[in-house]
Amino acid sequence: MLIAGNWKMYKGPAETRAFCATFEPPDGVDVVIAPPYVSLAEAVASGLTVYAQSVHWASAGAYTGEISAPMLLEVGAAGAIVGHSERRQYFGETDETVARRAFAAAEAGLGVIACVGESEEERESGQTELVLRVQVEAIKDAVGTHELLVLAYEPVWAIGTGRTATPELAQEAHAFIKSLLPRPVLYGGSVKPDNAAELLAEPDVDGALVGGASLEPDSFAAICRAASSRS
Ligand code: PEP
Repeated sequence: MLIAGNWKMYKGPAETRAFCATFEPPDGVDVVIAPPYVSLAEAVASGLTVYAQSVHWASAGAYTGEISAPMLLEVGAAGAIVGHSERRQYFGETDETVARRAFAAAEAGLGVIACVGESEEERESGQTELVLRVQVEAIKDAVGTHELLVLAYEPVWAIGTGRTATPELAQEAHAFIKSLLPRPVLYGGSVKPDNAAELLAEPDVDGALVGGASLEPDSFAAICRAASSRS
């Protein structure tokens, strides 16, 4: 079981230090935090496993605003999230760029959490499987079943909305994703301490990618404990 906290654009170094001083992950579960780039070194110094929230496909070059896999390794990061729906929605990330980022990261030895998920309109118009297939196959074509690759199923309508997928709906999507690309699949979308256990009880839910509830040490620890008691 892997529980990853995506901090989005929250917590600079001082707040990161304060979080790490209080947060106590339980045994029996792999826990990752993904702070903003400027807080990576602070998070690494705490001894927690740290991922970045994105990574570029080139190792260096004229790519203003980007960070490469060797740079992340140099500061002690262990991996990177790629293809988060906020990157796809607000920063022009495409299936092709997500795949390139995922490939470069895995090749460099970083763990990868590659996000996929349908929008509300896509689900309502019956396109969920088609959308997931296109997104997952782009990643599969680039990365294959690389042992450093983990997928995250994050239905866009459930991210930051308080609307969680039912455990049955998550299970169905996870099983479909694994039929395309047999790698672990995390669930993401309004995971909270009070719904984590039922989601994590599904056989094909291999962990969680947590946004809002990962910002507070107690709620993130509670979610990690729900995973630890399942594994
Ligand atoms: C996320 O940012 O990946 C996420 C799932 O956010 P939240 O848990 O806040 O819905």
